[in-house]
Amino acid sequence: MSTLALLGGTPVRTEKFPGYRVIGQEEKDATARVIDSGVLSGFIAGWHENFWGGPEVRALEEEWAAHFRVKHAIAVNSATSGLMAAVGAVGVEPGDEVIVPPYTMSATAVAPLVWNAVPVFADLEPRGFCLDPVSVEARITPRTRAILAVDIFGHPYDAEAINALARKYGLAVIEDCAQAPGATYRGRFAGTLGNLGVFSLNFHKHIHCGEGGVVVTDDDDLALRVRLIRNHAESSLDNSGITDLRNMVGFNFRMTELEAAVARCQLRKLDRVLPERQENCAYLNARLGEIPAISPTWVREGATHSYYFHALTFDEGVAGVSRNRFIDAVRAELPVTELREKEGVNLRSGYVKPVYLLPMFQERQAYGSKHCPFVAPWHEGNVSYAPGICPVCERLQSSEIFVHELMRPPFRREDLDDVVRAFEKVWEHRKDLA
Ligand SMILES: *Cc1c(COP(=O)(O)O)cnc(C)c1O
Repeated sequence: MSTLALLGGTPVRTEKFPGYRVIGQEEKDATARVIDSGVLSGFIAGWHENFWGGPEVRALEEEWAAHFRVKHAIAVNSATSGLMAAVGAVGVEPGDEVIVPPYTMSATAVAPLVWNAVPVFADLEPRGFCLDPVSVEARITPRTRAILAVDIFGHPYDAEAINALARKYGLAVIEDCAQAPGATYRGRFAGTLGNLGVFSLNFHKHIHCGEGGVVVTDDDDLALRVRLIRNHAESSLDNSGITDLRNMVGFNFRMTELEAAVARCQLRKLDRVLPERQENCAYLNARLGEIPAISPTWVREGATHSYYFHALTFDEGVAGVSRNRFIDAVRAELPVTELREKEGVNLRSGYVKPVYLLPMFQERQAYGSKHCPFVAPWHEGNVSYAPGICPVCERLQSSEIFVHELMRPPFRREDLDDVVRAFEKVWEHRKDLA
């Protein structure tokens, strides 16, 4: 066991890690119930009883709202759709700016574009990885309309500071809590910290139903506007008495009865699968934190973390070896995970490229070829997407952060210990990587 696997030695483990399986008999029975009913979606796009969706969708919404202690829950067909609906619902207009973090799934930053608004990237907290309130305030202009705060990796955004900025400047806060179901901040659930929250139910998330999402809010008007955008708003307005037509261009963001039936079962499992993940990450934080170059996950005071990813940082100066080389060596010691074999070992250097470095932002080309909405008569700003605008994010991505999923249930202590052993082995032999 003395030679690193990367250099031809024997790996710490070759037996696959156990897959995350949260779909079972309950979901089978629930989908069978829907199939037997013969009605796979209950929606009708008109001002009608069925405008609100079928029985499974409505039951899911009630149960979701009760679980997360929020007034309204609105089921949609993805978090991406939910984010688009939320940005439209708060009244973002062409030419407005929406502040977003650069370290997130691209859908967060794309949601404002759908309404011809311009995303403005603010930098991250170096330890918390969420939006840095100081950077956010520096990017606020007279055109700023909303802040899209992400609970990245399952860590709730700094709601105290960011919400204070929103109040001070009259902005809406939309919380992307796709990665943070069940995380909390000062006794409130992630998703309910801003004006609207958006959950995801895609396959990779804590609980899933294939594809799906849920938007939550305590605000009656915002809830109605999300429901309108979800279901072809324009076709329902005639008889609804709604006169505020801003952003009442509707989409089909409707969830089917099948997904809703599965999501209801999944919601009941969240309180079982989440604590396991949190305990596993607490153990790994303690053990991996003993390696001098590794800092365990930092969680802000008053918050609990839901660990969609387990994100840690690596100090290349202390290690004397690059993060990428180190993590490559750890990966070589470990096996793939069942159900996700094709992805390779679920441990990686960095998370995603800062979103503003994607070609769409670099070339400022979204709709058509004339740089709409980045260059448009109604947009007076000049937003920069130049490399270097978010130095903390770039540094995290290029050399500091690593993330992994080698802690999802049903990982047992033995599995976690193999992960620790791989890190320890590479740490002990790091000089061989020079
Ligand atoms: C997964 C994810 C999304 C998108 O979720 P979908 O349901 O796949 O559309 C958005 N934001 C974040 C932070 C995510 O992790």
